Amino acid sequence: MFDPSAALRQGMIGLSKNTKVRDVVEKAPVSKDVVKRFVAGTGTADAVGAVRELDGHGKLATLDFLGEDTLDKAQAIHTRDAYLDLLADLADAGLTDGGRVEVSLKLSALGQALPQDGKKISLDFARSICEAAAIAGTTVTLDMEDHTTTDATLESLAELRKDFPTTGAVLQAYLKRTEADCRDLATEGSRVRLCKGAYSEPASVAFQDKGEVDMNYVKCLRVLMEGKGYPMVASHDPRIIEIAGSLADKSLRAADSFEYQMLYGIRPKEQQRLADAGNRMRVYVPYGDEWYGYLVRRMAERPANTMFFLRAVTGKR
Ligand SMILES: Cc1cc2nc3c(=O)[nH]c(=O)nc-3n(C[C@H](O)[C@H](O)[C@H](O)COP(=O)(O)OP(=O)(O)OC[C@H]3O[C@@H](n4cnc5c(N)ncnc54)[C@H](O)[C@@H]3O)c2cc1C
Repeated sequence: MFDPSAALRQGMIGLSKNTKVRDVVEKAPVSKDVVKRFVAGTGTADAVGAVRELDGHGKLATLDFLGEDTLDKAQAIHTRDAYLDLLADLADAGLTDGGRVEVSLKLSALGQALPQDGKKISLDFARSICEAAAIAGTTVTLDMEDHTTTDATLESLAELRKDFPTTGAVLQAYLKRTEADCRDLATEGSRVRLCKGAYSEPASVAFQDKGEVDMNYVKCLRVLMEGKGYPMVASHDPRIIEIAGSLADKSLRAADSFEYQMLYGIRPKEQQRLADAGNRMRVYVPYGDEWYGYLVRRMAERPANTMFFLRAVTGKR
């Protein structure tokens, strides 16, 4: 059956790969204002400022230096160095203790898809960032990208965890394999961020129906909550948040043994409510110039965001 929201999502994600559209949108002067709602700024100082602001309101943060899918080694080096600078600045600002801030990485931004030795290069760069994070007193979580990279990313995770056991991973509830991955990762000290999934994936590997994705999210979350690891509930969905609270209660989890996570600029009042109620509430804060792919995924998952964006770009508010 034709599903208009799935078609919109697929179309938007297709657009994210169209470089001509990307050029026009990135140059539209109004884009900058629209971007500000979802992206903390372009430089390290903006990122540190956003963390300080969240910290002042009792919220935790994870920072993402925007960029993905690079086939240019110099760009991968640039991304690694941006994280190294960021971690040094966060430590200097006194923001890294007590798990207040961590960083999130996309291995594709560190060269995972480079034709020669991509996996090794991205792992080496991720290792340097994990070392810097450990020195700064914090840790790293590996973002999860499209399903063709899941195995490679989980293999890199296993390597990194040998030396940096607090390194976390993201699992996506829309993938049929994820319940099994949750069982594998629900072990002592293992940090797992469970999200629904933001890429356009085929029916052979992913649930296509939103209801099925939600059901699988709850199944996977139960595995994580009943397990020995540290679940990170990454969702803006009110039903998922409510269910997460009851699953945590049923599993006799203390408030500091799991956390809620949401994206910067999305449901800020709900973020504050959860933090004020004594929960650990972490905000995923993207920053940098390469905001286009990130923003298009946010549009694809919510038509209201798309209209907000299109009205701003076309000047029709
Ligand atoms: C911390 C974090 C990290 C993530 N990392 C990854 C990753 O590594 N890989 C990946 O594929 N995806 C990642 N995602 C994105 C994720 O997969 C989803 O695409 C995204 O979070 C939307 O799903 P949802 O659970 O919020 O619910 P949806 O199904 O999109 O929405 C459910 C309900 O939530 C509420 N809601 C959602 N958005 C809004 C909004 N903008 N304003 C108001 N209410 C809203 C509405 O009530 C809506 O009906 C991440 C998400 C978070 C929060």
